[in-house]
Amino acid sequence: MTTAHVTCPLCEATCGLDVTLDANQQVTRVTGDRNDVFSQGYICPKGASLGALHHDPDRLTAPLLKRDGEFVEVSWQEAYDEIDRRLPPILEEHGRDAVAVYAGNPGVHNIALTLYGRVLYKALGTKNFYSATSVDQMPKHYSAGTMFGDPLAIPVPDLDRTRHLLILGANPLVSNGSLMTAPDIRGRLRGIRERGGKIVVVDPRRTRTAAFADEHHAIRPGTDALLLFALVNVLFAENRVQPKRLGEHLNGLDDVRELAQPFTPEAVAPRTGIDAAEIRRMALELATENAVVYGRIGTTTQAFGTVASWLVDVLNVLTGNLDAPGGAMFPLAACQPTGNRRPFAVGRWRSRVRGYPEVVGELPVATLADEIETPGEGQVRALITVSGNPCLSTPNAGRLAAALDNLDFMISVDVYLNETSRRADVILPGPSPLERPHFDLAFYQLSVRNVANWTPATLPSDLPPEWETMLRLTGIVTGQGPEADVEALDDFVAADVARRAKLEVTRDRTGPARLVDLMLRAGPYDVTLADLEAAPHGMDFGPLKPRIPDVLCTASGRIELAPETIVADVPRLREELGKQDDGLLLIGRRHLSSNNSWMHNLAPLVRGGNRCTVLVHPTDATRLGLTDGGLASVTSRAGKLEVPVEVTDEVRPGVVSIPHGWGHDAAGARTRVASANPGVNSNLVADETLLDVPSGTSVLNGIPVEVAPA
Ligand code: SF4
Repeated sequence: MTTAHVTCPLCEATCGLDVTLDANQQVTRVTGDRNDVFSQGYICPKGASLGALHHDPDRLTAPLLKRDGEFVEVSWQEAYDEIDRRLPPILEEHGRDAVAVYAGNPGVHNIALTLYGRVLYKALGTKNFYSATSVDQMPKHYSAGTMFGDPLAIPVPDLDRTRHLLILGANPLVSNGSLMTAPDIRGRLRGIRERGGKIVVVDPRRTRTAAFADEHHAIRPGTDALLLFALVNVLFAENRVQPKRLGEHLNGLDDVRELAQPFTPEAVAPRTGIDAAEIRRMALELATENAVVYGRIGTTTQAFGTVASWLVDVLNVLTGNLDAPGGAMFPLAACQPTGNRRPFAVGRWRSRVRGYPEVVGELPVATLADEIETPGEGQVRALITVSGNPCLSTPNAGRLAAALDNLDFMISVDVYLNETSRRADVILPGPSPLERPHFDLAFYQLSVRNVANWTPATLPSDLPPEWETMLRLTGIVTGQGPEADVEALDDFVAADVARRAKLEVTRDRTGPARLVDLMLRAGPYDVTLADLEAAPHGMDFGPLKPRIPDVLCTASGRIELAPETIVADVPRLREELGKQDDGLLLIGRRHLSSNNSWMHNLAPLVRGGNRCTVLVHPTDATRLGLTDGGLASVTSRAGKLEVPVEVTDEVRPGVVSIPHGWGHDAAGARTRVASANPGVNSNLVADETLLDVPSGTSVLNGIPVEVAPA
């Protein structure tokens, strides 16, 4: 028996785990690492299933090539030869934009794909880059970019010191934190109570977090921005605006005061479903030290996602709690991006068919089907998916799936033959999480405490590391062919990182380890990768510290409290005032044992019956003739699905809820456990024409639907 200390790569919480292996290198046990500097023994069911993931017999162990409509296992050489035969001619004949990329969520949890994926995407030079970000947190990048000048400068709740936490559209007890890296959320929320503090949740559903909270307000979906504006309105009206030391770093305070004028508590109450008196009380309770507003998926994947994301931080500024202990603070990760920072810009190009602006280098995935289906110059003819399953996770999934079948060529870099990769011509698998080194490059940038932990590969792999796969594909798209010198390409990448960090390139490591080492050396803590290797339970760099003005990267060097492009969307929000209720609205939900679409093939995580049901309030169920356990049809402009009914007062009247990431019943997928527990794909009814205007993020919470007995 041996035990390896690893950082769990399955969600944002970055828990330290102890993985026990027997003499045959079988994982016999996974437990929380009590000595981990951050998680101190915490583990959730997903982390405990790391062994099941590693040993999953459905995980691909060789490249697959489609011949006469059937997948066959081939050598890596054959796979690359096929890609070299089919991809470069498309680029030559139709240009770089003819090849699109979709990068899925698991790639952010994988340093090989994070660091070397961008090498491939840059070499490809396509404007058609899409990712899960535009069905998730893009509005937060947008608001951080316009307010602070850097789309990655996202303030997180200083969870361990706050005394008042207002949560909107988030369920951290189940998600384990999102845009807020914080293992053991329950313990940290309990800590707020023990300090005499208070937790308030605003959510259309009484989630696990809402049930745990001191106060729950069941808001109408999609109206968070109205509520937030009303809180701003009250702070100004009651003379409670006190930005304190931020005052000298602010532009636009008077603009915000003026913009908030129409959004009185009385004006927003009918639309939000929250009493004006309650709104006033919530605002006054927030106007205190060590208070913080935190918004997540329910506030970003909705029609006013950017305005809501912006107002979250406006409130944190107005109460003097941005960049202050106990408020919303900017983490300072050990690995820092290298090179000069430039102020955030959007709309450097637009999507060809619907004219959506680029944000953070990508286009809304909601328009990918348009770009494939619409003939003309720049039409997408080939697609590379990297750890993504857009046939389950993007809106009007039925339309996108059909569009993918019309591509000239498709490559999937994926560990499974799933609902999306089954449409590919070539599938390139990667090692399991235990067979690759891990460092949470993205999530330490969002951590409620400054920590770092390096995990070496626990087990050897028969598969090449994904960073090599990315470089091989880079070789092909840059005309060097499948025989490109991967070592030389890697040296080139490292030299570029070193040059931007003003460091000498090192030769003692290769791949992600060398890049992480360079970024650590360029970072703020005077540590190297060797230091992290010598600390298997992680290194703790202490609580978050104030970072303004250094963190700011706006052209003015100040916080832009009223960014022009966000302010331009406020009139659209004003039109919401006075609107009547317009029928049933569909929202999503999460489960502790689920992570989007990518963990449903693990038996320990799908036990306990079908979780993919539609939640309906008893009054709606009676009105619509729906019965608990019966089958309902759910219809929207985009499509229709049938799903079992669960009658519950967990959701507010007028709201129904279906979890996303399900629908594993596609013929040709090779995920036996998932296929036996398929659920339904909620994105069949998600409408690809409904977007948050500034960021192009899909509306996945607040979709108008009709529900009837099936
Ligand atoms: S909370 Fe996230 S990081 Fe921690 S064990 Fe669970 S899946 Fe892994």
